[in-house]
Amino acid sequence: MSFIDARQVPNGTQLTPDLVVVGGGPAGITLALALAHTPIKVLLLEAGGMEFDSATQQLYAGDETGVRYIPLDATRLRYFGGCSNHWGGWSRPLEPIDFEQRDWLPYSGWPFSRAELEPYFTRAQQLIEAGPFLYDTLAKGDLPGSLLPLGPGGVYNSFFQFSQWRGNANHLPTAFGHRYADALKGIPNLQLMLHANVTGLRLAHDVRWVDHLDVATLSGGRFTVHPRHIVLACGGIENARLLLASNDVISAGVGNQNDQVGRFFADHAIPRNTATLVVFGGEIAGFYKANQDARGAHFRATLAPTERFRREQKLLGALPTVEQRVELDEIGRAAVATTSAALGVDASNAHAYSLGTGLELAPDPERRLTLIDTRDALGMPRLKLNMTISDGDFASYRAILVELGRQLLAAKSGMLRLDRSTRTEWLSAMDWGNHHMGTTRMHEDPKRGVVDANAQVHGLANLFVAGSSVFPTYGASNPTLNLIALTLRLADHLKGVFG
Ligand SMILES: Cc1cc2nc3c(=O)[nH]c(=O)nc-3n(C[C@H](O)[C@H](O)[C@H](O)COP(=O)(O)OP(=O)(O)OC[C@H]3O[C@@H](n4cnc5c(N)ncnc54)[C@H](O)[C@@H]3O)c2cc1C
Repeated sequence: MSFIDARQVPNGTQLTPDLVVVGGGPAGITLALALAHTPIKVLLLEAGGMEFDSATQQLYAGDETGVRYIPLDATRLRYFGGCSNHWGGWSRPLEPIDFEQRDWLPYSGWPFSRAELEPYFTRAQQLIEAGPFLYDTLAKGDLPGSLLPLGPGGVYNSFFQFSQWRGNANHLPTAFGHRYADALKGIPNLQLMLHANVTGLRLAHDVRWVDHLDVATLSGGRFTVHPRHIVLACGGIENARLLLASNDVISAGVGNQNDQVGRFFADHAIPRNTATLVVFGGEIAGFYKANQDARGAHFRATLAPTERFRREQKLLGALPTVEQRVELDEIGRAAVATTSAALGVDASNAHAYSLGTGLELAPDPERRLTLIDTRDALGMPRLKLNMTISDGDFASYRAILVELGRQLLAAKSGMLRLDRSTRTEWLSAMDWGNHHMGTTRMHEDPKRGVVDANAQVHGLANLFVAGSSVFPTYGASNPTLNLIALTLRLADHLKGVFG
């Protein structure tokens, strides 16, 4: 079956699938694939077409305040496949500690442990085409090079794996729309509609049920969908916008009776050139500087804090990586000469590298999305993001770098110089991961979260959310593998719901 073009649907049409999935990014596509062999009649509504078009992309524009962030229409893509059309493919499972409630980290903790996602990682790994699920077991096998020697302590050699589209000679990460289009076309119970923008969720009279969804096209089409159940899979920003903007019956928006929707936005901060790593013994192995292949995986090393160290020192997650070779200045060269002499090692062939990191932010209710007065071409209110990052977030990462420096000296393998100290310096070298998380957070208590442990919106019998907007605490690992595992778990739950 080919995909349906919503612009051809007559105005006033009422569609009645069993399940509507809103959004055709990795989450929505995963859900549709996972429900393929069930009797559930699924309608997948995707706002964009098969390719980028600027009029549709404009629907994503908004405002930003606070710490400088990426414009809201540049940090995501609104067409089939969503942000996977240009994601980096960096992948890594969240760690068990990321799910734990920690007394020293306010608002932390998931309603379940990582064990709950374990059964879904293998399939998630297949969907992102990242080869076998190896990650930290890579250290135990043959690697094309030596691990950086570190003394005992809180930092260890850990690994990312990468999504790669195996059919593509350039090994681009899997772009879900193009990659899975044929598989989706082959699913008998699935209808997939392009150019279909959901603009509102309309509540039933008892406000415990979503009665129908309004759908609009940029060509002026308007129709409705009356499903039994709904999954929002519009991405970590748009899931919240759709709930907030559906405010015709409850002024705060759907699912927002406790003022939680849109709060706790998070991304991974990526401060660059944060430290200079000197390796006394010459060039560091290639898999620290770039992706390499081993045991069927495309992988890269990171110098990560152990869970034990994070617990003891009360630290957020961070995944420092080697960025590039750098030349030391005179002071740097003198420091290397003195330190290596004191340690009694030969540093005549020392190499220096800059380090960057992907940094977890502490949950902050004021880092949030709210609606503003301006509207998009379909009449939906736009969003404003208030971005924050605390000095504590930087301090946590700095403590990890200090520990890494100590372990290098203990192993006599190298040394570290910290290159950023003030907040201004940190912010001047700041990138973001484009990993939108937290805005419909998962918590068993409706006062502290938007969805429950099954990703069902509190107080609404037929509304669920898929994607990293449900992450209540974020870890430093990239979100996509994890949100796909979570979506596969949701698919299993929905199979039970439909009996
Ligand atoms: C530049 C960049 C690099 C990245 N690199 C990495 C990386 O290396 N590793 C990693 O793990 N993650 C990375 N990410 C994040 C990753 O792309 C996302 O985690 C992932 O795409 C989220 O999937 P999703 O389906 O939840 O949302 P999205 O990918 O945002 O998909 C949402 C879909 O919903 C559609 N939609 C939106 N609103 C509506 C509506 N109202 N009606 C109908 N449809 C709608 C959109 O068109 C889109 O297709 C990166 C992201 C970007 C932008």
